Amino acid sequence: MNNLSATNPLDLSETIVAQATAPGSSALAIVRLAGPDAHAIAQGLVHPWPSTPRVARLVTVSDGQGAALDQSIVIRYDAPASFTGEDALEIVAHGGLVVATTIVGALIARGARMARPGEFTRRAVLNGKLDILQAEATGDLIASNSRAAQRVALRQLDGGLSRRVLALRDELIGLEALIAYDIDFPEEDDGPIAPARILAATDQIIRALDSLLATARAGELVRQGAMVVLAGAPNVGKSSLFNALLGESRAIVTDIPGTTRDAIEAVLDTDTVPIRLVDTAGLRQTADRVEKIGVEVSESYVARAAVILACSDGPSSLDALRAALDGARGPGTGIDEPNGVPIISVRTKIDLHAASPEELAASARQMSAVETIGVSAETGEGLESLIAAIVRTIASRSGPLETDAPLLTQERHRYAVSRALDEVREFRDRWQGAELPAPVAAVHIREAVRALEDLIGAVDIEEIFDEVFRRFCVGK
Ligand code: GDP
Repeated sequence: MNNLSATNPLDLSETIVAQATAPGSSALAIVRLAGPDAHAIAQGLVHPWPSTPRVARLVTVSDGQGAALDQSIVIRYDAPASFTGEDALEIVAHGGLVVATTIVGALIARGARMARPGEFTRRAVLNGKLDILQAEATGDLIASNSRAAQRVALRQLDGGLSRRVLALRDELIGLEALIAYDIDFPEEDDGPIAPARILAATDQIIRALDSLLATARAGELVRQGAMVVLAGAPNVGKSSLFNALLGESRAIVTDIPGTTRDAIEAVLDTDTVPIRLVDTAGLRQTADRVEKIGVEVSESYVARAAVILACSDGPSSLDALRAALDGARGPGTGIDEPNGVPIISVRTKIDLHAASPEELAASARQMSAVETIGVSAETGEGLESLIAAIVRTIASRSGPLETDAPLLTQERHRYAVSRALDEVREFRDRWQGAELPAPVAAVHIREAVRALEDLIGAVDIEEIFDEVFRRFCVGK
């Protein structure tokens, strides 16, 4: 029973156990036990047994032979009022490598089995405590590496995206009910449903799905971060700017050209979008082998960038930089093309050489840049403006980032919503063109509902019938 490969993650009859905190040296470690036998298994080991659910209790945890393993705080949960919806126990033990491991071992010896990765959350979904979107958000929250990702994951965990998807699904079911009513009760006194009403409802759903789908780009940026690449000739101050922006020294800063051999990446946290700042090795052509590797890395980063910071400390290096960027972006992606990667021209070291507004404007033109910002890594001047310009430039391509509306953050979400949208559009075309009889065209609406249900993991076909009778009061 304790053999992991033989376990079935869908089998809810087993009681599972795991250490919920990272193993290693820490003040505390949490052991989680959940399943139908959780209480029976733990009762022989936990003294005194907590008489009240959801109340922390100081206990002694022993092994099966009665030897004490720890003084722990234990919280008992009674089904269905627990994370997984099952009987459960959380043991807040002392940390370190031994205590939690021996407690887990004692619980396994009494019949629990080791949980698989994510199995507690999976059970929460199977027992209807969380939907799949919320379960995903749990993972996203734990994995979040920026405040923006944390904010979006929390909103999703709170059910924001689920509610939006459910509302859209309800609208689709309402539309389905309208069509069904039209088919089933054509002789009703009120007459058939006006085609304009069905069309208007369809268009409204198309608009709503469209605007939800439009959040996918922002969602991806928030989750994965927007890559912002520092480019420029050696010694213009890229590494110094990289460090100044991050507020800490992670890159090697040197005044010997070509010392930054490879690209260095770090995440710059902003409220709206995590910026994955990449310091490249410079873009000049060179015969030196190591430098060449640097140039290649630079080129591959440049091609994938959301924004390029074209750095120069004076007008002299601009021509070479522009030529290098043109080359790095590859044939057919000319710098002036609207779908090319946007460039912000950054004039560095303004504490040494102040740049006049005319000079800045000229370098913006020369680089076909969306903006030009003067900065000093030395004094910090211009850094905030630069970050604001980066966020502005990213948002201009992705749509609003700082929105309270839920975002689609995964490819799975994007796929489901675009599938639903395609189906509703298909229905509209077929139905409006009277190409298909209404019941056949309505199949597309059912498919759209199914796509959204796949997204949240909810399926209940009966609901459409409820909807028909609730709306039209024909249940006689
Ligand atoms: P990179 O090769 O483009 O990464 O350039 P570095 O960041 O290594 O900087 C090259 C030299 O310029 C170093 O000596 C830095 O100390 C200096 N430097 C960089 N930024 C500034 C700045 O804003 N002001 C001043 N005064 N010096 C700077």
